[in-house]
Amino acid sequence: MNRKLTFLAVLCPLLFSSSSCTNREALGRSDDPKGGKAKTNDKLESVSPHVLPPLPFKEDALEPVISAKTISFHHGKHQKGYVDNLNKLVVGTDFAGMPLEKIITETAGKVDKTAIFNNAAQAWNHAFYWRSLSPKGGGEPPAALKQKIEASFGSLDACKKELATAAMGQFGSGWAWLVQDGDKLKVVKTGNADVPMTAGLKPLLVLDVWEHAYYLDYQNRRVDYVNTVLDKLINWAFAAENLD
Ligand code: FE
Repeated sequence: MNRKLTFLAVLCPLLFSSSSCTNREALGRSDDPKGGKAKTNDKLESVSPHVLPPLPFKEDALEPVISAKTISFHHGKHQKGYVDNLNKLVVGTDFAGMPLEKIITETAGKVDKTAIFNNAAQAWNHAFYWRSLSPKGGGEPPAALKQKIEASFGSLDACKKELATAAMGQFGSGWAWLVQDGDKLKVVKTGNADVPMTAGLKPLLVLDVWEHAYYLDYQNRRVDYVNTVLDKLINWAFAAENLD
């Protein structure tokens, strides 16, 4: 089993409802009915009711950088809330039988579907965020990713600096992403629940910069949370697995 298939085999049962995961090879781009712009990390056929995926590590595994208390609230209350809300919102709608990523692409930018988009995207973003962290994170990226980082940013430090700048520059709640755009890697930030896929960018990893991600541990010091996570927890191996 190659690395992408191995990754999907692990991620599929974790990310979404347990009913099925029929397109395990489709780690690449999703089919976008509006012109093929959206790029996603998987094409999962699971449908509602969506379930809260378990964490890929124990609640205390990221201490002292992120406390078990933060992880417990973040996963067990915030992320669970998005999943539960989504399940309630899609009952009796066309979205009830839809995979999570398709719900996101179908509702993005539609003002009358904002609540469904927000909860679907936040459910997806958080599952992706947990995979972007690892107790064994930080350090050097795998060679193939490091090469692309150096080609796009000049150095690993420059990439981390750009990620930190995006994370600090996001006014209010949101996300800082390392994404792939063709042959190039880029850093982008999104507000609230927004995702880069709908802009044609493929996510490689993400930092949650909503206050609930760090306030219990760092209070207003977002900069300390961001820099410590980038040094100690960021999961470069996960990002490398997501490369096209
Ligand atoms: Fe969050």
